[in-house]
Amino acid sequence: MNTLTAKHFIIFVIPAALLAATFWFMPRVPELPPARLELLPHLPYPAIALGAILSIHFHRGRALFVFLLLAVSYWSFQGNATELPRGIEATVLYQAVTLLVPLNIALFSLMRERGIVTVAGRIRFAFLGLQALLVWWAMTPGHVAVQQLLAGHLSAAGVVAGSPLPPPAIPAIVLSGLLVAARAGLKQSPVDSAFLGVLVAFAVAGNGIAHPHVTPVFMTAAAVILSLGVLKDSYNMAFRDELTGLPSRRALSEQLTWLGRRYSVAMVDVDHFKKFNDTYGHDVGDQVLRLVAAKLRGVGGGGKAYRYGGEEFTILFPHRSREEVLGRLEELRRAIADYQMRLRSSDRPASSREGKRQRSGMPQGRGCVSVTISIGVAESSSELRRPADVIKAADDALYRAKGRGRNQVST
Ligand code: GH3
Ligand code: MG
Ligand code: MG
Repeated sequence: MNTLTAKHFIIFVIPAALLAATFWFMPRVPELPPARLELLPHLPYPAIALGAILSIHFHRGRALFVFLLLAVSYWSFQGNATELPRGIEATVLYQAVTLLVPLNIALFSLMRERGIVTVAGRIRFAFLGLQALLVWWAMTPGHVAVQQLLAGHLSAAGVVAGSPLPPPAIPAIVLSGLLVAARAGLKQSPVDSAFLGVLVAFAVAGNGIAHPHVTPVFMTAAAVILSLGVLKDSYNMAFRDELTGLPSRRALSEQLTWLGRRYSVAMVDVDHFKKFNDTYGHDVGDQVLRLVAAKLRGVGGGGKAYRYGGEEFTILFPHRSREEVLGRLEELRRAIADYQMRLRSSDRPASSREGKRQRSGMPQGRGCVSVTISIGVAESSSELRRPADVIKAADDALYRAKGRGRNQVST
């Protein structure tokens, strides 16, 4: 089911575009007026602060923690740039930051969103604080052995020639990048895809501390990328249904205000779904809703599916008459009715006799389940001018389909 398709990569478009723009901008930085160049080293702080405020506002704890990491990293990078040749403390700090920040970003990416002022949020704060303490401890005089051990890594030949990044940081960045990319692609989460962009920007910024402009420009880019991720995530929360990934009813309402004069609407409802839930449990019910949603998404013919609510869906066909979409909907109905969904063993009813008793009326294969849907269609016309009227007409048609025995398309 989780084969890699182009769809999995769309989530990376915004961070990738911002990174590309930053790389394009980089050689033009020295051409900026001197007054602006003077401001450049301060730029990451307001960008990070703004992102942190956004994260707090939208309760995005994982993003807030990464903004904190960015603030600390930039502060430590700046110290490094100004006091060349580096003292042992600066070396230890640089070593620790370039190693720990990527690993922490990967960790936050793998963790679930658990808020900021919650118990989980406080534990995460404490976890970051503990790391800061450990680094501070390693930096204080008297821990020469630890410092020499850490700094020894630095003076060893870099993995990438000419890079100041300490050798352990490079595999840490690559490994973290792979983890975050996998997570972002699978979960289709804008914050996680932003984390990947942040990792790349962080690596470039850390690698460029000896260069006058690279670090502030890429740290600012990291903050902008993550801020956009937080905004996109919040937008999705309002306009996308979490269970199925389809646009939500709110998105439908918004889309209805943009429709032209001619369009068709199909209302879709899963048959006997209450019974299905009672037999197999809510989790299997949820799986079926995801499956139905995936089929609806691929309806074609310019149709766009929305989750209307519960086990009801709406498909909008802009610029299409009812006759033009009937064939598609009939195909869709048949495809869902023919589809056998395999149950995982833990999804099966506790006793087979119980399952059999409850399953009556629903076609079953061995260890497989299937569902059917009913569809009602209506098109805009001189009588049905307002979208609400067309939806109502499609709903009435859906009732007729139910009344005629379900598993059918009705007009
Ligand atoms: P009909 O063929 O007449 O449509 O019968 P039905 O049982 O599908 O109709 P009804 O509207 O009475 O039941 C809808 C059920 O859908 C109720 C609820 O248990 C289930 N349902 C609604 N939303 C969800 C959901 O998000 N997940 C799951 N698993 N079930 C849901
Ligand atoms: Mg219903
Ligand atoms: Mg139903």
